[in-house]
Amino acid sequence: MSRKKARRFGKKKANRQRIAKERIAILLAHAETQALAGDLELADRYAFLARKIGMRYQSKMPRGFNIKFCKKCMSYLVPSRNSRIRMTGGRLTRQCLKCGSYYRIPLGGK
Ligand SMILES: [Zn+2]
Repeated sequence: MSRKKARRFGKKKANRQRIAKERIAILLAHAETQALAGDLELADRYAFLARKIGMRYQSKMPRGFNIKFCKKCMSYLVPSRNSRIRMTGGRLTRQCLKCGSYYRIPLGGK
């Protein structure tokens, strides 16, 4: 046995969060595959499941998640298909065509 500091719950929780992160990554990969294959409904379903896991384990979504998915209706956004992306003054404006919400993504660092 190692003599590492073992807090009572810390280790277990971290382990669970790691597993949750892995599962989220897998689900998001599935979502992407399905979306690119044209099955947006299935993609949405995977995205929904991924977020559910994230909420349950209070795990942060991986980077890039907010760009690919609509925060409001959780649909996987495929440019020109169900989302519109425009460049406006150093910012990327993205609109989800499903629920109509806009998101602005600043470009070029903070
Ligand atoms: Zn939406």
